[in-house]
Amino acid sequence: MSNCLFCKIVKGEIPCHKVYEDDKILAFLDINPINIGHTLIIPKEHYESTLETPDELIIYIATAAKKIAKAVLEITGAKGCNIGINNGGVSGQIILHTHWHIMPRFRGDGHELWKGNDTMYGEGEAEKLAEKIKNKI
Ligand code: 5GP
Ligand code: ZN
Repeated sequence: MSNCLFCKIVKGEIPCHKVYEDDKILAFLDINPINIGHTLIIPKEHYESTLETPDELIIYIATAAKKIAKAVLEITGAKGCNIGINNGGVSGQIILHTHWHIMPRFRGDGHELWKGNDTMYGEGEAEKLAEKIKNKI
């Protein structure tokens, strides 16, 4: 994709602070980190989101994410991390090239995870919904 920012990073047309690279994936520091060490992992091949990415590549990214996250935690001294994947604009995905966020977390860093919004299931609704999803998989 000629106009994709992350494809340009893969091609070296836009610089990045690289932390890992092999023939399939690239990992680099996020330009606007939520905390120091915030790292993005992307496949070198262009896919719009994780949901469009081939299974074998997802397994590869997940395996690398585990390794990279451990290194990020050790180096930054973070005690934990969120591994985040936005899929689609409504979820907050801005760059439409598959990427996984590794976000180191520090106690009291002020970030919150998915605030509840009073969504509740009606009587029997969860049961029906789970059944429908189950039958679709
Ligand atoms: P999204 O919201 O699409 O899941 O996340 C995109 C991420 O890419 C954001 O966290 C943003 O800071 C990061 N980002 C956007 N442009 C650049 C860039 O040119 N270089 C780097 N390293 N990160 C970028
Ligand atoms: Zn791309």
